[in-house]
Amino acid sequence: MSVDDILVIGGGVVGLSIALELAECKLKVRVIDRGFVGQEASWAGAGMIPPGEIHFENESYRKMARLSSQMWPGLSERIYELSGIHNEYRPCGAIIVPRAGSSSSEFEKEQLCWNKQGIDTSLIESSDLPGYQLSESAGEGKSYLLAGQSQVRNPRHLNAMKYACLSLGVQITEHQQVHAIETEGEKIAAAITDIGRYSADRIVFAAGAWSKELGQLLNVTLPVEPIRGQIVLLNTPGQLKHIVEQGKRYLVPRSDGRLLIGATEEHVGFVRHNTAGAVRDLIQFATELVPSLDSASVEKCWVGFRPGSPDKLPILGQLVPWENAFVATGQYRAGLSLSPVTGRLMRQLLLDESPEISLCDFSPSRFTKPE
Ligand SMILES: Cc1cc2nc3c(=O)[nH]c(=O)nc-3n(C[C@H](O)[C@H](O)[C@H](O)COP(=O)(O)OP(=O)(O)OC[C@H]3O[C@@H](n4cnc5c(N)ncnc54)[C@H](O)[C@@H]3O)c2cc1C
Repeated sequence: MSVDDILVIGGGVVGLSIALELAECKLKVRVIDRGFVGQEASWAGAGMIPPGEIHFENESYRKMARLSSQMWPGLSERIYELSGIHNEYRPCGAIIVPRAGSSSSEFEKEQLCWNKQGIDTSLIESSDLPGYQLSESAGEGKSYLLAGQSQVRNPRHLNAMKYACLSLGVQITEHQQVHAIETEGEKIAAAITDIGRYSADRIVFAAGAWSKELGQLLNVTLPVEPIRGQIVLLNTPGQLKHIVEQGKRYLVPRSDGRLLIGATEEHVGFVRHNTAGAVRDLIQFATELVPSLDSASVEKCWVGFRPGSPDKLPILGQLVPWENAFVATGQYRAGLSLSPVTGRLMRQLLLDESPEISLCDFSPSRFTKPE
């Protein structure tokens, strides 16, 4: 049997971020994943990092989004130092184009909401952007630039996180699925896989869209649903500099000319294939917005499963009644961008410090019915 200070079940960006924070404090940390780490939602995402949050009014959530965005440059440098892998984090700005049919007051309200939080936006005409070929109908000239938006290249970030963790002594145990939990009184005694039994002082469940099943092993309610997202990857001559967002759809240009078109939001369970209709819609969205993409080559498409909670807010905290069990999931569309702050807040919680942003609104107990 192996005994660690901290055991993290699930090696996506959330699990690895928690592991890195704790390993920086010289704790003995192990991450277990049933596949290779960093190959699920965290790999599949688009890597957009907004400078804050406007769609949820929850103040703690907004603070998390702002702090996380500020942590990205330092984290990227640190993991580069530890791993030698550049995650391609870069502030690139985003052009926000109004949704077809949305009222101008709705759109102005959105922009004002950024400004009230001290985040700059500036109105732009499509023609103001050199090298840009947004279609004339896109936003009818009323788009705005969100200069503080950044991006990271997910597969590279995950790889950098993995090797940064390893360099700090984190044990990464891959291809072992936790299928049972042994308890002793009010504590978890061990997580069981087909070939191992792993014990630790504290255990963190960071299993993304699969968290519900893990909760069931402990008889706790973790109502996390997989929200399928489909993405199409184009290879282009590289004319886009900024991310372009219109409602929930977006184009994310990588520095080597590749361009991600995202994404769907589908409640279909763990069905792991792209659908013809979604791929068609995504390509139509992209080519209508930027007609010159018509001649781009389609490189591949993929799906990922976002961990969605019923109120779409994260689930972070102790898994009451279990004294040494904690959970970090439910980040939904923002798990990648929120991962630095999630790692930090979970480290503070696990080390019995007071988290610098209140986690009360994210407690897993909010889903437990009173008896
Ligand atoms: C198409 C798409 C676009 C997105 N775009 C963005 C974006 O631009 N910005 C952003 O911030 N977020 C984005 N997201 C959301 C983000 O990717 C997720 O919120 C985030 O990756 C969740 O991370 P995670 O570590 O919780 O989950 P995952 O990366 O899914 O990791 C969970 C891990 O747990 C492991 N696991 C599960 N069960 C077990 C078990 N029983 N035993 C052992 N291991 C187990 C899995 O193998 C997996 O590796 C996007 C998501 C998708 C799908």
